[in-house]
Formats: sequence, structure tokens, C-alpha cells
Amino acid sequence: MPDGTRIIPPPIAMLAELTHRCPLSCPYCSNPLDLAQRESELSAEEWSEIFRQAAALGVLQVHLSGGEPASRRDLEVIVAAARGAGLYANLITSGIGLTADRIAALVTAGVDHVQLSVQGTTPATADRVGGYRGGFARKMAAAEALAAAGVALTLNAVMHRHNLGELPEVFDLAERLGARRVEVACVQFQGWALENRAVLQPTREQVEEAKRLVAEARAQRRGRLVIDFVPPDYYADLPKACMGGWGSTGLNIAPDGSVLPCHAAQTIPGMRFANVKDTPLEEIWYRGPAFAAFRGTDWMPEPCRSCDRREVDFGGCRCQALAVLGDASAPDPVCRRTPGRARLDLLLAAEGNGPGLEAARWRRIGG
Ligand code: SF4
Ligand code: SF4
Repeated sequence: MPDGTRIIPPPIAMLAELTHRCPLSCPYCSNPLDLAQRESELSAEEWSEIFRQAAALGVLQVHLSGGEPASRRDLEVIVAAARGAGLYANLITSGIGLTADRIAALVTAGVDHVQLSVQGTTPATADRVGGYRGGFARKMAAAEALAAAGVALTLNAVMHRHNLGELPEVFDLAERLGARRVEVACVQFQGWALENRAVLQPTREQVEEAKRLVAEARAQRRGRLVIDFVPPDYYADLPKACMGGWGSTGLNIAPDGSVLPCHAAQTIPGMRFANVKDTPLEEIWYRGPAFAAFRGTDWMPEPCRSCDRREVDFGGCRCQALAVLGDASAPDPVCRRTPGRARLDLLLAAEGNGPGLEAARWRRIGG
């Protein structure tokens, strides 16, 4: 480890956003509004070099994501490069584009695990939310092909006001598809999801009912299905440690090679991001200004600075502070120990019964 960096641990995980292209157009997508064009995407050779540097830095697992990673014809080459660098390769996919032949090629390339996302549990909901007719049927076909190929599968579902009622069916679907784990995350308001916050915001009653259903399902399905549930931040009283603490456990590589402390960090005004095409990953992680900006506790204002939770939640999410309070260096507005919470409560009162899905702005490259 280089001099002067002894107290900074190496990253464990890396999110590799291979592309922003995606056949779906979910209004809850966390990708930025200004989506990367195909021409700016890193090549498979460049990804291969990034994986080599990441492994040398200490990264153990890479999450291959997007957009839809299968939109890249060279996905199999990229997976093989990740495995060749010694990384655990987890593919996060909508399933669209994953034919049986493609899955066989990914297995040959060494993919370790697949997370398949669903936008709902019926064609009516899933295709509407994803903005892609026939998408649900193609996902189910991909899930069957993954099961036939013996690939370890987790089902992912992003929940919001318009599909939280389908929660028990999500658990049923996961078991039917042979998934051993289901990850149910209430929408995080970043990127396109922030743009559609009033449309997607669940009600407090929905959130309480969801917690009850999760507890019930965990008891009933113990030993068959592991259920990870991420409740919505806004209805909590204290924030989570976003990314486990800024610049402490993971990093994101955007499709063009920009290296980000979290995938929404590009929304923070004035923050500049080094690019792995011209700066070594180790240099960016240990000395990059974007990573140093909110690392640890030195940057904190009061009341975080003198709070007993400052090394538990590290002041929460910077992008959430920016989105709600207009200031990325403020304490997370979720925190009831801070004055910013009043603004969040007003916002929840205003958005708890917002417009229908037809008012959403669907995610598209070019706006
Ligand atoms: S959230 Fe939807 S639109 Fe965004 S990358 Fe995933 S599948 Fe595509
Ligand atoms: S005051 Fe700051 S450190 Fe303390 S709980 Fe709230 S956000 Fe976390």
C-alpha cells in the first residue's frame, strides 16, 4: 500500500456499468438523466485492463451492470476477462437478450451468478413499468434457460407505489424460478427515479404492510428462500451508511471510464471524476479528489461531527442530501437529529398520494 494511505482500506466490490443502453425504460432507473452514448463506451480490452487493476487493488467481486449488459455483443468476452483477473463475476440483467445460446456462452466464460430483475409479477404490470411489451415473457424464458444451465440466480425487484401490492407474488415467483435469494429494494430516488419521485413514492401504509409481509415470508420460507429487503430511506428515522461509507468499500465505473464513489455522484455540482483511461485505479482510489471529498468524518458539519453515530452511518447519503436539501455536504435529511428532516417530512406529505404511472417520465437515451 502506498505511503500516506494506510488508514484507507482497499475496495472490495466494483460496479462496472458496461453500457447505458437498455431495451427497457423503467421510470425508477437509477442511471443518470444524461445517459452515455454507445460511442463513449469502454472497449472489452479496456475493461480487461480495469479488472486487472481492480484485482491488484484488492477488489474481490465485480457486478456487471448497466443499462442492460447484454446489450453489448462482447459481454461474454468481458465476463471472461473479469474471471481471468480472478474476480467473482456477478451479472445484473433484465434478462432481455439472454437467449439459451447466450447463456451457454456466459457459462463457458465463467459467470458466477446472475441477478435477474423483474418490474412486476404479471405481464400487465411488468411490461407497463418497463415500457416494453412482451418483456415479461422474455424474462421468464431467460429465467428458465438460466435454471436449465444451472446458473445461481437471485431475483431482483424494485418496488414502488405501483407494484408494492405484488410483494407476496414476488416471493412466489422467485421460488417458482428456482432462485435461492430474492432482493426486494424499495426505489432509491436517484437519476430517473428522482425525476419520477412523486409518481413512485410509496405511502407509509404500503411500507408498513410491506415490512409485515417480509417478516411473514421470511418465517414461512426459511430454508428455501433468502429474502433481502431494503425499505425506503425516506420513511426511516436514521440514515444508512451509504456505500458503507463514502470511498470505503466500493467504487463504480461509468460506461465511459469515469470512476465514481457511488453511481449518483455525478449529480454533485463541482465534483470532478478521474477517468481510468488516463489515471491508474489505485491513484484514483487513494488520492482522487472525488473519493477524498466525503471520506471518513473530517468533512462533517454539526450535528454529525459530534454525533455518536458518525462512524456508523457516516452522515448518510450525500446524493440524498443534495436531492432534498440542495447541499451534498449537509447531513442526510432522513436523520431526525437534524433540521433537514422537516423538509423531508413536508415532501412526504406532498408526494405520498402523487400522480399515477401515466405521469412518469420514461427513461430514454436522449431524454
Ligand atoms: S432499471 Fe430498467 S431501464 Fe434501468 S437499466 Fe435496469 S432494466 Fe434498464
Ligand atoms: S446526526 Fe449525522 S451522524 Fe448523527 S445520526 Fe444523524 S446523519 Fe448520522
